[in-house]
Amino acid sequence: MSVNATKCKTCGQPIRWWRSSVREGGWLCVDYSPDDAGTVKRVPTLDPATRKRVMYGRALTGTDLAAALADGELLFTLHSRTCHGKKAHSAEQ
Ligand SMILES: [Zn+2]
Repeated sequence: MSVNATKCKTCGQPIRWWRSSVREGGWLCVDYSPDDAGTVKRVPTLDPATRKRVMYGRALTGTDLAAALADGELLFTLHSRTCHGKKAHSAEQ
């Protein structure tokens, strides 16, 4: 099963779930397609136990975000900012 191809239960838009690289056990929910105005960077990580690639994400702010933009980094938008559903997502950030 891939966690990268799923749909938002609230609005039905395709989304990606990435593990948070800054908060253990945390998850980030981002829009499926990259966005010029995005703030979340992909952080591909090799799981030392399974030797499989796991996708982490990191929300950037301030100078980190400016540096990523200057580098032409592919960034994604937090789905909570674009979700058309009514319910708030509890598992993101
Ligand atoms: Zn949604």
